[in-house]
Amino acid sequence: MILPITLYGASVLQKKTEEVAPDYPDLQLLIENMRATMEKAEGVGLAAPQVGKPIRLFVVNGNALTEKYPEGKDFVHTFINAHIVEHAGTPWRYSEGCLSIPKIHEEVERPARVRVQYVDENFAPHDEWFEGIRARIIQHEYDHLEGKNFIDHLSPIRRQLLKSKLVRISKGVVDCDYNVKVQK
Ligand SMILES: [Zn+2]
Repeated sequence: MILPITLYGASVLQKKTEEVAPDYPDLQLLIENMRATMEKAEGVGLAAPQVGKPIRLFVVNGNALTEKYPEGKDFVHTFINAHIVEHAGTPWRYSEGCLSIPKIHEEVERPARVRVQYVDENFAPHDEWFEGIRARIIQHEYDHLEGKNFIDHLSPIRRQLLKSKLVRISKGVVDCDYNVKVQK
């Protein structure tokens, strides 16, 4: 099932999320629906708050970026209860977008490598380093779990310049090809 994507401005996108218990109701179905929703919207990642759920879960699919970033290939993954425990490498800039903030792309600087502790959809634990575009996608989605959005990384001036666009988005005045919803 395709879920509507919550637009910027909703409180669920601005608060820290809760850990997911193994018996969370219909978790596998939620993961499946989030994957379908991400693919339909042609996103490379989707975090649970973006479908209105304040829990520590995100899905990724880096395949669309493979041409420019080979390490995106087969980066199809589910992260539950993820925690970034270490950053490393020279920070680099990349023009990011977000399905909750349609049609806005801005350069964000982030560390090149991250070490992540998480469980997969079977609740098997992992402790892994990721780099390149994989680390980039993870850090963007991870921000959603912490109640942050990529525009929070911009300078105050840059944010000020985007303000009227952001107000329009938060009111649902958007033109995009996927289902969105305004939420308080
Ligand atoms: Zn996002």
